[in-house]
Amino acid sequence: ATILAIESSCDETAVAILRGNRLEAEILSSEISSQIDIHQEYGGVVPELASRNHSLALRPLVDKALAQAGIGLESIDAFAATAGPGLASSLLIGHTAAKAMAVASKKPFLSINHMEGHLLSPFIDSKQGIQENTSLVVSGGHTMIIQTHGYGNYALLGKTLDDAAGEAFDKVAKMIGLPYPGGPHIEKQAQSGSPDAYDFPRSMLKKPHLDFSFSGLKTAVLYTLSELNPVDGRPPEEAIPDICASFQAAVIEVLVKKTIKAAKQQNSKFITLSGGVSCNGALKNAFEEACVKNGIKLKVCSPAFTTDNAAMIAYVALHKHLNGEHSPFSCDVDPNMRLNTLVLRK
Ligand code: ATP
Ligand code: FE
Ligand code: MG
Repeated sequence: ATILAIESSCDETAVAILRGNRLEAEILSSEISSQIDIHQEYGGVVPELASRNHSLALRPLVDKALAQAGIGLESIDAFAATAGPGLASSLLIGHTAAKAMAVASKKPFLSINHMEGHLLSPFIDSKQGIQENTSLVVSGGHTMIIQTHGYGNYALLGKTLDDAAGEAFDKVAKMIGLPYPGGPHIEKQAQSGSPDAYDFPRSMLKKPHLDFSFSGLKTAVLYTLSELNPVDGRPPEEAIPDICASFQAAVIEVLVKKTIKAAKQQNSKFITLSGGVSCNGALKNAFEEACVKNGIKLKVCSPAFTTDNAAMIAYVALHKHLNGEHSPFSCDVDPNMRLNTLVLRK
């Protein structure tokens, strides 16, 4: 089947066309129009600006995706869009556009959960479909460990109780004075710093559960900054690499240890990583090392699909479509949409 999907949950407008079956999929096109430049001067996403820019960007992006794929609208078997979680006014643009195309083409519509997109994104380039694995999803708004038994069959094992990992990167970057979004800037600074320079807390590492907390770490960095510069907390230039490396090491250690622990508890020999933070090189290296040591296979989402994109939405939609799980045209967006997990942790 051939799917056209739209992603507009936050500050990227994205359109992808994907063709495939349950075992493998081919991405015919995956276009992204980022609004980072627009929001950068505000240090975060401005919802009103985001939705306006989605509606401006969408139409040309659909045309571009079709041209890139070399097909016309009549070749699309189903239309999909992200329904949540995200900003309501941004979600509505993509969701309504995909519905309209489905109505006009007399084809089915598929309303997709953004987090299921991230969760399954490591399998987009798989030739054997979705395999059982212990999944770490680390994005700007979420940090979750999920046992993925197969498509549509997910058990939530742990999640953050406060900030998401990506959010911690973004907030710490802001405190240091690095641009938004902070993750890539922290990673770059960390490359020339020492991860042992500051002893930042590894929250909840000794707790038996698989939940996370990153707000204490953020506060610890804030204290360090105000000690370094009591005037305005802006660290001296030469201290930035060490702070970034030490902060990053604290985040990584917790993510790796908890995920390995989860895999062992689940008797799982396969770990996948997805979401924007999973493109962090130091995180990937730490996971590779830990997985080799524990005899666990690792699959990291391909860099093109870690941050927000429409290919991951099209991929979930493909599986839904093949199962005949179409959405009614009356369905709505849901800014707080939860992933449908079968077993919640005790
Ligand atoms: P969600 O999917 O939870 O709604 P989101 O869509 O904003 O949130 P993504 O687009 O998956 O999240 O990822 C963006 C996040 O990834 C940002 O917080 C960003 O700082 C972080 N990130 C991107 N690159 C890196 C990197 N190299 N190292 C660390 N973090 C990174
Ligand atoms: Fe996302
Ligand atoms: Mg984003």
